[in-house]
Amino acid sequence: MSDGIKEACGLFGIYGNPQAVKHAYYSLYALQHRGEEGAGIAATDGRTIRDIRGMGQVSEALTLEDFGAFESHAAIGHVRYSTAGASDITNVQPIVVQYSRGEIAVAHNGNLVNARILRSKLESKGSIFRTSTDSEIILHLLASSCQVNWLDALANSLNEIKGAFSLVFLTPDEVVGVRDPQGFRPLIIGKLGDSYCLASETCALDLIGAEVLREVEPGEMVSLSKGSLASRRYAPPTRHARCIFELIYFARADSSLFGEHVHLFRERLGQKLAEEHAVDADVVIAVPHSATSAAIGYHQGSGIPFEQGFIANTYMGRTFIQPFQGQRTRYVNIKLNAVPQVLKGRKVVVVDDSIVRGTTTASKMRLLRKAGAKEIHLRITCPRLYHPCFYGVDFQSKEELIANKVPADNMTEFFEVDSIGFLSIDGLRSCARCEPEGFCTACFDGKYPVPVPINVRQMSFEESHGRMVSPLLRKAPAHGSEAAHNYAPR
Ligand code: SF4
Repeated sequence: MSDGIKEACGLFGIYGNPQAVKHAYYSLYALQHRGEEGAGIAATDGRTIRDIRGMGQVSEALTLEDFGAFESHAAIGHVRYSTAGASDITNVQPIVVQYSRGEIAVAHNGNLVNARILRSKLESKGSIFRTSTDSEIILHLLASSCQVNWLDALANSLNEIKGAFSLVFLTPDEVVGVRDPQGFRPLIIGKLGDSYCLASETCALDLIGAEVLREVEPGEMVSLSKGSLASRRYAPPTRHARCIFELIYFARADSSLFGEHVHLFRERLGQKLAEEHAVDADVVIAVPHSATSAAIGYHQGSGIPFEQGFIANTYMGRTFIQPFQGQRTRYVNIKLNAVPQVLKGRKVVVVDDSIVRGTTTASKMRLLRKAGAKEIHLRITCPRLYHPCFYGVDFQSKEELIANKVPADNMTEFFEVDSIGFLSIDGLRSCARCEPEGFCTACFDGKYPVPVPINVRQMSFEESHGRMVSPLLRKAPAHGSEAAHNYAPR
């Protein structure tokens, strides 16, 4: 329910399992919160790769029957929100291509900061791109590598790309998982019987009954093949920069990542917030659902009772998946209802996870006032956001951030609340049990862990390279089918 933040994508991969497609399909349901614009699965029978991709949530985009009688033992899956590349079926992943070494599929979570430069270079050498995503660049680098061994070629390609990338690759022989050297985005290894799997979050592994083994390390490449898991480093160790927003907002509360359990981490955020921004109040409520754990933490830290002052309509998508600003504001009113029986005549602490553009916060506060809240004390579980993100989250300019438009002293008035309190950066870091200095906090402090080329803004290739696809074309034809040949060049 955060104020307009969206992130690109959730990943899954599995090798050596006769139910590979089924596990990929159900895992994508667990990762649905990471992207609702499109979903896809690519699977192999050891000879060829087939893929199914569609627009919308998993239930709209895919069915298990899509693969028919195709017998696969390995698969990768992807749910997408577009932060680079247009929101159309062409850009839904996995991307499958045929090149000199055979077939390969890739799915990507993150954003490359040098994508525009690399794409221009590749195009000047003759590459023709079929999508407007930065993810396809990786495949072109791979195809142009002189290395004989494909994993060496992949390692070389990975050393050319900069920014945030967790990746899963599928070939007829293996599944490979990769994390960027800073570890911006998560990727976790699991084991299901004799087969190994990969997922962006542990909740996907839980769903299919897989045991969680460990995270893919930043700068590590793991190869899943028959009954084995091979690991190699492709980049030297460097300072880690895990995206702190994964823990504040993106990840599901029942997941564990970056060495933290998300619910417990958010509880600590709430406790710290109660310490930094104490207030005399009657009740603590959460903006559901991502702030619920933190509101419980605020209750624990302050002793103020926690109640449900907002009820969310769970039949709506998360606000951040709505691509247009006007839609986001309207959806707040459809999605949330304030409860007068909890709020009327009371001094209310309302906990939210972040304020980005500020477009939905005022609407939420008005709902509380209308329900009779006597005082409203807004508490935010992260610091003010002053800087854009270039690593796969969709606030792309300083201008769109409310912290740069409304001075801190005027925020109370702007949001029509009685007080407002943001967690400090030190407070935020202090909640991490595992490597508190190993997080990216660039959107708060402007210290970008991977240099962003001057004049580079989040790549939006649809401006210069994009192509329109009819909205009627909601599902891509199966790879290898006759229709696929008429649909897009491979
Ligand atoms: S800039 Fe902010 S949102 Fe982007 S990766 Fe860093 S912490 Fe995450």
